[in-house]
Amino acid sequence: MIARTTEESSSLDDIRRTLRAAGLRVTASRVAVLRLLATATRPLTHQDVVDALVDNPWNRSTLYRNLIDLADTDIARRTVFGGLARFELMGRANSCTEHPHFVCTECGEVSHLEGVRVRIEGQELPDSVSKGEYEVQLRGRCDGCR
Ligand SMILES: [Zn+2]
Ligand SMILES: [Zn+2]
Repeated sequence: MIARTTEESSSLDDIRRTLRAAGLRVTASRVAVLRLLATATRPLTHQDVVDALVDNPWNRSTLYRNLIDLADTDIARRTVFGGLARFELMGRANSCTEHPHFVCTECGEVSHLEGVRVRIEGQELPDSVSKGEYEVQLRGRCDGCR
């Protein structure tokens, strides 16, 4: 129990330090959003964040601004897949930038194809692709919708 409290408070310190280092003011909602991203196993949409923090007084637009602030300061990465912007902490292991996603055109479900590797090679690629700043998305019907 004591160990757990220590662990929680030190991670809270880390969060505050991260925000300050990025030049962001430490507000309760920013701390909560960053903490949520730090514990999430998947990139979160704005709606995921709103749902997870529903018991708090912050409104949707505050939480959205918090996500954008984190993305603008490179604490979080914003990627669009499945038609929705999703946010994950920068530098997270097994990041969603490292594997393709399958998006169901019927129900919108997104699957993370973590065991799949796609190599893109060739000439006349846009700069961002050459630098690895791209995302591969497969679209079709998921097994449940076939
Ligand atoms: Zn993923
Ligand atoms: Zn489906």
